[in-house]
Amino acid sequence: MSHSLDALPLFIQAVAFAAEKHRHQRRKDAHASPYINHPIALAQVLAVEGGISDPLPLCAAVLHDTVEDTETTEADLIDHFGPAIAAVVMEVTDDKDLLKHQRKQAQIDHAPQLSPAAKLVKLADKISNLRDQLEHPPEGWDAERRQAYFDWAARVVAALGPVHPQLEQRFAALMARRGELG
Ligand code: ZN
Repeated sequence: MSHSLDALPLFIQAVAFAAEKHRHQRRKDAHASPYINHPIALAQVLAVEGGISDPLPLCAAVLHDTVEDTETTEADLIDHFGPAIAAVVMEVTDDKDLLKHQRKQAQIDHAPQLSPAAKLVKLADKISNLRDQLEHPPEGWDAERRQAYFDWAARVVAALGPVHPQLEQRFAALMARRGELG
């Protein structure tokens, strides 16, 4: 597969690739929503709310969980989408050799060094996840656990530094709703 495609076909290819890879996965909300809703939500945050049309962050957004949560490898992404998009996905992929609490700390520690495209994906991921915590919370999470998630997301986003003023504003507005978690 060539990766010299125009932006829109490349983006559609990324959506189709992610949909295929995540086809058996579900989100943790009460209705077990299809997993692909989440990567699509990130692209929507970037393109619609952020006004971003650069295919690099948009493709990386829809692909951001393929290496972490499916059998997809970095080599697969390079093959299909080229080294630049693959590199951004790898930047936002957690190291599975770390324990869960170490992975969470690593996201904070690595945030300042991320590339601009990876910072956009990370910010959109946290916006999408806070929205899900408010609108479609994971089943079995009590208010305390959801509050702790908000605390951690705030630390990751603070560590990113300036990324995109409008999207940072969206994030702040969601943080301001944390009282709704109880
Ligand atoms: Zn995500």
